[in-house]
Amino acid sequence: MKTLLSAAWVAPMDQSIIRDGGVVFESGTILAVGDAKSLRAAHPDAQVENLGDVVVLPGLVNAHTHLELSHCTPGGRGEPFTDWIIKLAERSGRNSGVPHEQLYGDATRLGIEQCLRFGVTCVGDISQQMHITRPILRNAAIHCVSYGELLGLAKLRRRYDELLPRAIDRMHESDRLRIGITPHAPYTVDLPGYRESVALARQHELPLATHLAETPHERDFMETHAGEFRGLWNQIGQWEDGVETFRGGGPIDFAHAIGLLDYAATLLAHVNYCDDRELDLLARGRASVVYCPRTHAFFGHPPHRWREMLSRGVNVAVGTDSCASSPNLNLVDDLRLLHEISPEFPVEQLWELATTRAAKAIAMDDMVGSITTGKAADFLVFDASTGQPLAEVLTQNRRPQQVWVGGVRN
Ligand SMILES: [Zn+2]
Repeated sequence: MKTLLSAAWVAPMDQSIIRDGGVVFESGTILAVGDAKSLRAAHPDAQVENLGDVVVLPGLVNAHTHLELSHCTPGGRGEPFTDWIIKLAERSGRNSGVPHEQLYGDATRLGIEQCLRFGVTCVGDISQQMHITRPILRNAAIHCVSYGELLGLAKLRRRYDELLPRAIDRMHESDRLRIGITPHAPYTVDLPGYRESVALARQHELPLATHLAETPHERDFMETHAGEFRGLWNQIGQWEDGVETFRGGGPIDFAHAIGLLDYAATLLAHVNYCDDRELDLLARGRASVVYCPRTHAFFGHPPHRWREMLSRGVNVAVGTDSCASSPNLNLVDDLRLLHEISPEFPVEQLWELATTRAAKAIAMDDMVGSITTGKAADFLVFDASTGQPLAEVLTQNRRPQQVWVGGVRN
């Protein structure tokens, strides 16, 4: 059945906001967007639903999260990052005796529920438990790139070889679910592991994500196997000598050297530490950066250079990261924080970080991220009573009144 949603405002995000706009869709796909009156004339067979004084936006895209940790709460504020990582296993209940199928399955379902409530209809999800999360996500009412997480360095190198075939297995792919890979971070995956991941991503055209320059300690570890991260490896008793070092600079140089920055489907989560020279490297490459504002604030990192990245042509998106460092998966609250930090930054462009730019970051921009003919009929609807609806949503603590995925209202 063909449907026409009409509203006081439609914000397609790949073109200017439309006053008295509408969107026509059928079988989960957008057929047309524009002025409601013209759409009504062009599609007399469509069932019309007039939503009134609202703004219709494309479903939001959370470019970086870990749904399988949605049962966690932020903890360990102010502790060294390495302690936070070590305690995460405990806090996630991994050793609690609850079967992992149940623990991570329930957390994933909880995460999906939260996303939909907050208007997020597509996620870039990092998953170590992909054999549990993917069967759930393939049929869920949410679009997803499931990045299978790889770990493997020192004594844990064997783990990489176990995880890799699982990560790139496309068995669970569906209309909603795409498969990607993610070597976790330069302090948990060795150089051969990164090189192989990049080669495989290119070969199979897979989206690739990695955590990069999240803390200032990555360079020390890569250069000499010293510093906080070496302490982490000693503490977990998995260190062994013979791990290849990287002496060509910091994590961004490392990403450049192994070909991560030239690959358009690369997503760099965080990049909290980036000097001018490294910014040049990013600007010359094609990789996207995902900034997680509330998680960034939780860890107390220095101000993120997202505006400079954007003005240099780097694609920047927002994400929440997991519930172990973000209060929840409400991506609009991350935009609200940015609006507070940077009130002069144009509001329309702020929304791009959670729509068009986020879709590009996870290589799903052919399907989601804007209200465009041919894309999925994913929408969210907010009350709008002023002439500046996109600013209004950010300044008033509103939740979406409706969320649609694939042309179906949730
Ligand atoms: Zn993360």
